[in-house]
Amino acid sequence: RNPEQWCRSFCHFIGQCLIKDFEARPSVTHLLEHPFIKQAHGKDVALPQQLAALIQEQQDLGFVISLASHRHERINTRKTLIIESSPDDDLVNLEFLDEVSFILFYLTSHLQKRYDELQVYTYVGDILIALNPFQNLSIYSPQFSKLYHGVKRADNPPHIFATADAAYRGMVTFCKDQCIIISGESGAGKTESAHLIVQHLTFLGKANNRTLREKILQVNPLVEAFGNACTAINDNSSRFGKYLEMKFTPTGAVIGAKISEYLLEKSRVIKQATGEKNFHIFYYIYAGLYHQDKLRTFRLPSRTPPRLGHQHCKVMHDIVSSKLYAEQFDAIQECFRNIGFTEEEVNSVYRILSAILNTGNIEFASITSQHQTDKSEVPNSESLDNAASLLCIGPEELQEALTSQCVVTRGETIIRTNTVDKAADVRDAMSKALYGRLFSWIVNRINTLLQPDMNICGMNVGILDIFGFENFKKNSFEQLCINIANEQIQFYFNQHIFALEQVSLTNWEVDDIESQDRLFPQATDQTLVDKFEDNLRCKYFWIPKRVELCFGIQHYAGKVMYNVNGFLEKNRDTLPADIVVVLRTSENKLLQQLFSSPLTKTGNVMNVPMQNKGGIILPSRRTETMLTHMTTVLSSSVCLQYSLMDLLSKMVVGQPHFVRCIKPNDDRRALRFGKERVMVQLRYTGILETVNIRRQGFSHRIPFEEFVNRYYYLAFRAHQMPSTNKENVVAILERAKLEAWVLGKTKVFLRYYHVEQLNLLLREVI
Ligand code: ADP
Ligand code: MG
Repeated sequence: RNPEQWCRSFCHFIGQCLIKDFEARPSVTHLLEHPFIKQAHGKDVALPQQLAALIQEQQDLGFVISLASHRHERINTRKTLIIESSPDDDLVNLEFLDEVSFILFYLTSHLQKRYDELQVYTYVGDILIALNPFQNLSIYSPQFSKLYHGVKRADNPPHIFATADAAYRGMVTFCKDQCIIISGESGAGKTESAHLIVQHLTFLGKANNRTLREKILQVNPLVEAFGNACTAINDNSSRFGKYLEMKFTPTGAVIGAKISEYLLEKSRVIKQATGEKNFHIFYYIYAGLYHQDKLRTFRLPSRTPPRLGHQHCKVMHDIVSSKLYAEQFDAIQECFRNIGFTEEEVNSVYRILSAILNTGNIEFASITSQHQTDKSEVPNSESLDNAASLLCIGPEELQEALTSQCVVTRGETIIRTNTVDKAADVRDAMSKALYGRLFSWIVNRINTLLQPDMNICGMNVGILDIFGFENFKKNSFEQLCINIANEQIQFYFNQHIFALEQVSLTNWEVDDIESQDRLFPQATDQTLVDKFEDNLRCKYFWIPKRVELCFGIQHYAGKVMYNVNGFLEKNRDTLPADIVVVLRTSENKLLQQLFSSPLTKTGNVMNVPMQNKGGIILPSRRTETMLTHMTTVLSSSVCLQYSLMDLLSKMVVGQPHFVRCIKPNDDRRALRFGKERVMVQLRYTGILETVNIRRQGFSHRIPFEEFVNRYYYLAFRAHQMPSTNKENVVAILERAKLEAWVLGKTKVFLRYYHVEQLNLLLREVI
């Protein structure tokens, strides 16, 4: 943007290149097409003489890229089995880190080169970049697990297993919980990465108890059958956030697992956008039960339920004839059995799912009589009867609860009838509640079954796989929740990488929130937009003119336009008490359990600050500004549920490891590298800043006491118990032959490679 500055950087770069004196000069027409070069020519920017002469002389700028290719020549020979590491594996080793765009372009070229050679992983310091290969690679076999077992990181090329190994070793060596944070856009490969990490951790954790190993490996597929769905972007998109903790003994043997779920997209049960599907499990059971000739047992209509899709005949044929779905159904049954669910429980799960499908077929008609105009009934009771029977409740009671509601005013109970629309809303709310609670129950049940039975004070490695940033043609409440969650993760990342000092709690007071009840009943989607308009004076927000019910937010990853239609309703997510009362009368044990607890909101209110050992975690400044404005507005009309705070507060106690997944193209095609797409992702994840900080900055700031306790073996004997003062810190650092560290008043400032070196030495002495 600043041509002069750019030219300076570029000149510097060229100079450096020449010094390197490359022999090979391959053609790089793509570099000439780079917007900056074009800009320089187009605007007739006066290139420094030296540079102009150079460009002329070289005719093309091949030598620029030859830096990368030069290094890659060695790599060419290891296309398939990659067992050799190279300096290119870590972007921090690259020179010339100056002007942002130019370097981003350069880094992207570098990643592309690696990608073309099926090198999908690259380090940026201790962060792993993972490019989605969109094809099966042969680098995840047990042999590879062995290769990445407790060796120096630089001995092997970058790999997701190395990140898992680092977390595992960190846990065992320092007796400290670890967490691996996987981020990236939808379809970038987060969920696959999470699976691979679990696979490697079970290997490292010597899960010699085969059944436990199998159980842990089956948790993901089971939960994902219920929480994942086919979207426009990803055939297996996670529609919930997942935090999986693997539990270990202090010596590092795996003993159990625990899973937490966040913000399941329940609205998908009711309605899916064009080209998208419902949660996988519905198709699995429909196809599975069809093949077992059990559709009748579960009262599933032979006409495909509308909740599975719209074009009946075709969808029906696809589902039933799909071998894949039927096979998945068998696999899920196997998972249930292995993890320890009883026959009865599994049967109840299928009943509830079938009931949800039947509920979708219940239709309402209005009854118009002289006195009442807004009364509804169910003209065709087949689906209603089916649903009621599957839920083990009376059909009349169910109809009653759908078409009317008890209201208590001034001590009197009156029955109000529901209009057709209202009855349909209640029906949908019931389906969402059934599915949401069923999902939570499955997760809880898995946790009980995989709880470590020994009473040992273990440690854990947590793996966070949270839905990625989303920006569709039409974005709604779900996208807002997902994108705000991503802002939070990004903040956490920044906070860790840039070692931000924690700021005090300002204009983030919980007291600001007005009572939601006061304004709630009158609120409509339009009043919500009006409130935004009146209250939001923030550059990250805008309300477009001439587009109704819309607002835009400038997120860290891009601009997103939200459609407010149905926002309030989605956010309210309330279930009428009448439905709860009926469902509680069920003779099915599982259903009783699902609805026996008092009705609580699933999430925390968004603006509850997080408390943790280190103090209060605040969202990034952007997020903070945004959320503050947003909550002021939203909280006066609605209470945005937000459970991610809870998650982050759990995570901050662990030592973090980061995996950044990058999607090389939007067509899910192997070996297709969209330069612009990658560049955009690198830019907004702040990868460049990370490279610079990693090179120059002190990414680790360790208090003297912690430092001495961690590393005293390097300079003292085990029984010596040195005091935790500055002098001993220096003694250890000198013994480790480290340079360029800095001492503060209470902390020692280290670069990331210092810590790597110290940990290596420590492993040698212990
Ligand atoms: P996300 O969870 O980020 O939305 P997924 O992990 O579901 O993305 O990945 C989307 C798709 O990309 C997968 O279904 C798979 O086809 C492909 N994919 C991702 N990672 C890998 C990998 N390491 N190897 C092979 N294919 C992959
Ligand atoms: Mg996913």
